[in-house]
Amino acid sequence: MARSALEPKLKMLPGAARGRPQPAQLMLDAAPIPLLLIEKGGLILQYNPAACAWLGPLSDPPTGQNLWQLLEGSAADPEPSTPGRPPLGSLRNLTLAGQQVDLQCSPAAAGTDQCVVVITSAAERQRAEQRISRLVGYDNLTGLPNRSLLADRLQQALVLSRRKGEKLAVLQLDLDHFKDINNSLGYSFGDALLQLIGQRLGGMVRQTDTVARVGSDEYAILLNGISSDQQVAGVARKLLGQLRQPFLLEERQLYLSCSLGVAMYPEDGETVEGLLKGAEQAMGLAKAAGGDSYRFFSEELDAQATRNLQLANDLHRAIELNQLQVHYQPQINLKSGRISGVEALLRWSHPKFGAVSPAQFIPLAEENGTIRQLGEWVLRQACRQAKDWQLRQEGLRMAVNISPSQFRLADFDQLIAQVLAETELDPAQLELEITESMLMHDVDRTRQLLQRIKQQGVSLAIDDFGTGYSSLGYLRHFPVDRLKIDRSFVSEIEECRENAAIVQAVISLASNLGQEVVAEGVETEGQLNFLRQQGCEEVQGFYFWRPQEANALSALL
Ligand code: C2E
Ligand code: MG
Ligand code: MG
Repeated sequence: MARSALEPKLKMLPGAARGRPQPAQLMLDAAPIPLLLIEKGGLILQYNPAACAWLGPLSDPPTGQNLWQLLEGSAADPEPSTPGRPPLGSLRNLTLAGQQVDLQCSPAAAGTDQCVVVITSAAERQRAEQRISRLVGYDNLTGLPNRSLLADRLQQALVLSRRKGEKLAVLQLDLDHFKDINNSLGYSFGDALLQLIGQRLGGMVRQTDTVARVGSDEYAILLNGISSDQQVAGVARKLLGQLRQPFLLEERQLYLSCSLGVAMYPEDGETVEGLLKGAEQAMGLAKAAGGDSYRFFSEELDAQATRNLQLANDLHRAIELNQLQVHYQPQINLKSGRISGVEALLRWSHPKFGAVSPAQFIPLAEENGTIRQLGEWVLRQACRQAKDWQLRQEGLRMAVNISPSQFRLADFDQLIAQVLAETELDPAQLELEITESMLMHDVDRTRQLLQRIKQQGVSLAIDDFGTGYSSLGYLRHFPVDRLKIDRSFVSEIEECRENAAIVQAVISLASNLGQEVVAEGVETEGQLNFLRQQGCEEVQGFYFWRPQEANALSALL
């Protein structure tokens, strides 16, 4: 084999037979990686051809030179002075022959003080690191760190905080009703908006903090060096306030809000997983409270999460164990003063937790799929009951709440037809309550589905009207019979001018579109009088009746 020009300069491995090169030597020569064998103190004993590029001009053979001296002027000091021992491990960003290099030093044969050094280009390593971190560490859309990079930084921050005895905070931020924006304005608009939001968030924290995008409309923020809960509360309030400022995009002005959850180290968790989970749970609470707010993680919150887990699990058998009941709340026609309809509202008495509110368990049932079974059960019960009441009051309307996942069933209209046939209820007596966001999703399919339901003679109401994002222009494309003004507007109708104005506007909008209006949550005479003056036809609320058991209502009818 032809030896390289460097042959005379290569020292043999210790113990190598003279004359014929040993396999180990051949391997060393052939290795494409720059390798050196040095002695304690840095004396170069051996090197391979690939290392020559880093070791300066060949006229000046490096064997016999001191590696640490060649590295002189490096920004990082390789600490060659440790008596009797070469430095082990990796040394980064040293200058060798005018270039930035990294060294990886590992012990050579046992019993010697020699050490094998691998030289790599620091610039190349940095480029690779950047490429990898772009690939695995950053979100494509916003360029912000993604969940795995956030977890990494959080891990490092935890080590530092532990050492310094400092607190840190993890904030999970979830946009309220972002799906509605995607559904109504399109995904590319939604994407552009997510970018703007990322920029706005990024501009609001210190450089040492991390803003990451951790889900489709979810961001997480890591705040280091925190002194108190109040400080974090201040940041949370600032973030909420900033997100409330309008976003300008494609000549539109958009108003957003978000729900924020906070988990703190060390109080709420000491691990990456624990803190991220805690912040997410706290965010869920803020969302459940109506959004546009922040919540701290707490033990109470943790207990609630455990309870929800059990509830979700127990929902599967709630029907068969006879734990469910339907209550009915009357709707009163203000002109005739009579009960014109009732709304069916599901009740669950849980053996351990007692009466559980549908506001709590319906979202759980949505999540684990049991809502389809529950919804169908309510529909049957309600239709049967309406048929029964038909004799007492002709034409009494039965309103049944429909959840988004029931609505998404391919054969939803057939289910309605089947239940109507089974119970022999006049379809004109059945009304389905759906929400605005259900309309905005997949508009064409929704319109066709609603039309098929309408053709059966069933009527349609929009529940919680005013809380969603539906554009009023949309409304006339759907065959809707009734708008139910959300309780939140009614409750402050007397104190809050804006709410009064909204209620007025909805009533006049509905009358222009030929739709009727029901005001929900009427609790006082004052509210009732205002609604009457505005020409509202129907009301529903505790002022008249709370939801009742069927028997109690039978007596009324
Ligand atoms: P919703 O459909 O908007 O029902 C009205 C809610 O407001 C009911 O709460 C009712 O008890 C309450 N309410 C009525 N009048 C007043 C009032 O004057 N003051 C106050 N403070 N509250 C009043 P409920 O029964 O707890 O139900 C909560 C929500 O759970 C319902 O809101 C509905 O979205 C959902 N839900 C209830 N039953 C079903 C069901 O069978 N299927 C589905 N998918 N959702 C249901
Ligand atoms: Mg309802
Ligand atoms: Mg409602």
